[in-house]
Amino acid sequence: MRDTIFALATSPGRAAIAVLRLSGPGTGEALRALAGRLPPPREARLRRLRSRAGEILDQGLVIWTPAPGSYTGEDAAELHLHGGSASVDAVSESLLELGLRLAEPGEFSRRAFENGRLDLDQAEAVADLVDAETEAQRRQALEQLGGALGRRYGAWREALLEAQASLEAAIDFADEDLPADVADRARPPLLELEAQLAQALGGADRGQRVREGYRVAIIGAPNAGKSSLLNRLIEREAAIVTAIPGTTRDVVEAPLLIAGFKVVLADTAGIREGADEIESEGVRRARAWAEAAALRLWVVDGSAGDGAWALAGDLVQSGDILLLNKADRDPGRDAEAARLWASARGLRIASLSASTGDGLETLRDALHRMIAHDLSGSDFPAATRARHRVRLEEALAAVRRALSTLEHPELAAEDVRLAVRALGRISGRIDPEEVLGRIFSSFCIGK
Ligand code: GDP
Repeated sequence: MRDTIFALATSPGRAAIAVLRLSGPGTGEALRALAGRLPPPREARLRRLRSRAGEILDQGLVIWTPAPGSYTGEDAAELHLHGGSASVDAVSESLLELGLRLAEPGEFSRRAFENGRLDLDQAEAVADLVDAETEAQRRQALEQLGGALGRRYGAWREALLEAQASLEAAIDFADEDLPADVADRARPPLLELEAQLAQALGGADRGQRVREGYRVAIIGAPNAGKSSLLNRLIEREAAIVTAIPGTTRDVVEAPLLIAGFKVVLADTAGIREGADEIESEGVRRARAWAEAAALRLWVVDGSAGDGAWALAGDLVQSGDILLLNKADRDPGRDAEAARLWASARGLRIASLSASTGDGLETLRDALHRMIAHDLSGSDFPAATRARHRVRLEEALAAVRRALSTLEHPELAAEDVRLAVRALGRISGRIDPEEVLGRIFSSFCIGK
């Protein structure tokens, strides 16, 4: 028989109310021992909670949710105690004495998943809701919990099964006089699916960026004014500003809210050659962070004439922004060189002064527009985690292989099966134990 588990579902510390959550086959018995008679299912009742010795531990609301209609699908209960740590400790002690054990992180959601109450992507949405800090994160997680991701994948699975049926017919009747084009009937649904999966993958970054934050890297040569810009944008002193090149050796990340989305802004080590070992490591990290970012702000000291600006050039991508900084000074040779270089590569160009603040509002407006444009979309994104994207890529690769081997229906059918499997793994129904363990252990205790 399964263990009966319990955990504090509210944050620890002094509060008006603390909720202890119980789940498992021993819940009813534990409740009777603590609170006397079981309350009617799903109705809150005020009860005194007593220890085995009969001492009153607390009084509070008790809710009894028998299987299978609870979150976990098991017998479950909630005890609403007074929120002092002594009350929680006393009732927890009694639950331990009654043979219950403390839940592991994510164990309630894991049980819900195992009992078919939630798919894996929905359980992930529960964890995302707990972590949601922005309106956009909350909305996305809530839709995913409601099955938005599952529905998209379900429709694709249907199309694959249709293709599979045609291929299997071609295999089964290979020796008979079946029209030669039976396997070919799999082509239209597979082509349609290929287009849809490719399109979905193209926009898959959106969901992940809403969930994890839209990453903006500030890059450029040492002393260009990167730290000054970061501090201006977040309106506090997060990065150290000095006139000594190489001050920012690690990546300094700062979260901020733009257009209702979580944005992670990062000040990175100045890109230069001939630095010492520690600084070189900083440059390596700066490059890695910048490459993975959604957007790069390339800061160039517009008053300089030493050519140092060019070194970060290989990091920027079309659509990034060149910021000609130190506009309060006379422009040097580098400003014009950088401007020409950037306009030839499709970069946006703006000038500003991180010292005086001139040009900052224009930059803020541009960021607002770009982020809102990149992260808003009418359909639910096809992926909100790296895990989803990997499976999507697998499915697309398998569909493409199937399309190229349609004249050998056995081979094509195998690839279609692999594609079905890849999509099925998003809902977690066919994932191995250790994968599930890793996913659920990242949830918080009591969830
Ligand atoms: P980083 O190495 O790129 O992070 O550059 P910092 O932000 O540390 O700035 C390097 C130096 O340039 C500091 O002395 C700043 O005060 C100065 N600085 C930064 N932005 C401006 C600016 O817009 N105008 C002027 N005149 N100086 C600036």
